[in-house]
Amino acid sequence: MADLNFATNSGDYTTLSGASIEGFRGSLNGESLLSGDEGYDAARRIWNAMVDKRPALIARCSGTADVIKSVNFAREYDLLISVRGGGHNFPGNSVCNDGLMIDLSRMTGVRVDPTAKTVRAQGGTKWGAFDHETQAFGLAAPGGTDVDTGIAGLTLGGGIGWLSGSYGLSCDNLIAADVVTADGRMLTASADEDPDLLWALRGGGGNFGVVTSLEYQLHPIGPAVLAGYLVYPYHKAREFFPLVGEFASSMPDEMNLITFLTTLPDGGGKACSILLCYYGSMEEGERVIRPLREFGPPLSDGVRPMPYTEAQKLAAAPQGRLNYLKSHFMSEVGDDALDITLDFFDRVTSPLSSVLFQYLGNATRRVPAGETAFGHRGAFCEWATNGVFLDPGESEVHIRWVRDFAAALSPFSSGAYINQVGTEAEEGEEEIQTAFGDNFQRLATLKRKYDPTNLFSHNQNIRPRI
Ligand SMILES: Cc1cc2nc3c(=O)[nH]c(=O)nc-3n(C[C@H](O)[C@H](O)[C@H](O)COP(=O)(O)OP(=O)(O)OC[C@H]3O[C@@H](n4cnc5c(N)ncnc54)[C@H](O)[C@@H]3O)c2cc1C
Repeated sequence: MADLNFATNSGDYTTLSGASIEGFRGSLNGESLLSGDEGYDAARRIWNAMVDKRPALIARCSGTADVIKSVNFAREYDLLISVRGGGHNFPGNSVCNDGLMIDLSRMTGVRVDPTAKTVRAQGGTKWGAFDHETQAFGLAAPGGTDVDTGIAGLTLGGGIGWLSGSYGLSCDNLIAADVVTADGRMLTASADEDPDLLWALRGGGGNFGVVTSLEYQLHPIGPAVLAGYLVYPYHKAREFFPLVGEFASSMPDEMNLITFLTTLPDGGGKACSILLCYYGSMEEGERVIRPLREFGPPLSDGVRPMPYTEAQKLAAAPQGRLNYLKSHFMSEVGDDALDITLDFFDRVTSPLSSVLFQYLGNATRRVPAGETAFGHRGAFCEWATNGVFLDPGESEVHIRWVRDFAAALSPFSSGAYINQVGTEAEEGEEEIQTAFGDNFQRLATLKRKYDPTNLFSHNQNIRPRI
């Protein structure tokens, strides 16, 4: 094969001989894909259709051995690498231009230990498959609210979900992980082995290596939970948000919720809605949500008992649309922030765009600030505005709306959520540092220990420091 240019980790380009590329490809058990190969375009495509990057080579690893070979190959030639777990990241950090994409989407094995109430899942597993396996034993771990998101990316950045009220973030339930570090070794991070690496993985993002499998503590859940949407007319939004804010600040642990501003399909107009999940007894759940139901006649009330696996699908967002998102944490949603929110949503530029406030859950906020690398234990909710559209020619107007909205709300930000931020080139070093809060310095020191040359940089990057 012909020689090929690759982007390097230091920002230049290098030419690799056809023979060395062929040698690497032949050493893998899984597929590898070059531009022009059948399957290349499908493999570089991720959930967000706005991301259109072209890796020089995609290594579709079949297991840890392929990951080790990929990391060694990248290090030998100083190649830019990106790591794909579930491929659901808004800014698309899992795909790089002209570098090596280490693709774990074939590594999806899940094994539950029902006696110990733990599960070990490979790094390309998505929450849908994870829930399917764990619910077979009546168990679950806090995961994202869209079953198509990857367990690895979401957990490494935190992971807010329905069960966070009782059990905290996904990362709080991570008890061990196998990680291929920059030197090509596989380390098992746990409370007994490399505990500082486990600390860093619980909120430090993809900075410390390729996580080939993750082990979680599970909890008895379901099978039925009380979940669904309550939808209200948009003109009720000014009363609705303070009521929900008050409700959320005193809700029981067994509950979590997300509020939305959306435009209903088929000319239904704008609406404000709440999506909730309660996983205690159904009778108690009905009693708990009564104040929300009594707020006024809803446009629709879809709250009902359903399997936990079905509740996990209620917030699913379709693949293949153009999405531009800005988000940050907030410690409260006061009148000023609400005024700005409603003012912007009054002039939303696309009927597919939405605003959401996702609550972090009681148990998340009870974990002491330095116990894991997740840097925002004091946050009350995450605000996120997603500009969604289908025509790339309209990008400017929708992106401008989201950016202006985020700038207007920035005085109310208590920091960014690393799972929603792009690379350092896109966001700037300062934005990324503040996303890690007070844990940044310890993370930078550990980065030096585990990735001294910053091989894993195509992420919410932490540069190695002393
Ligand atoms: C529709 C939608 C709904 C969402 N809902 C929630 C939610 O309810 N709660 C929540 O907390 N977040 C939510 N998110 C955000 C989500 O946490 C991030 O998008 C997360 O990055 C997704 O993980 P992934 O593995 O799918 O990502 P990918 O795009 O595959 O990876 C993102 C980054 O994670 C790192 N990474 C991924 N896998 C590995 C690995 N195995 N080893 C090392 N690094 C890895 C890499 O740095 C990579 O660039 C949502 C996102 C979307 C688009």
